[in-house]
Amino acid sequence: MERNRKSSSASKSDGSGRHMREVACPTCTVHLQVQVPASGSETIECGMCQHPFLVSAH
Ligand SMILES: [Zn+2]
Repeated sequence: MERNRKSSSASKSDGSGRHMREVACPTCTVHLQVQVPASGSETIECGMCQHPFLVSAH
């Protein structure tokens, strides 16, 4: 598995042990490692197509 990690421009690196999850972008279907929010949902911007989509805690 290749880890092609492009630096995201707007990243809040708080590094407080948040869970990572692999999700597929609903627009371009690329798989991304995203930070899962502790609660509720969070808007993630796809690294490939720059399309924002929502990631929920569960
Ligand atoms: Zn995408």
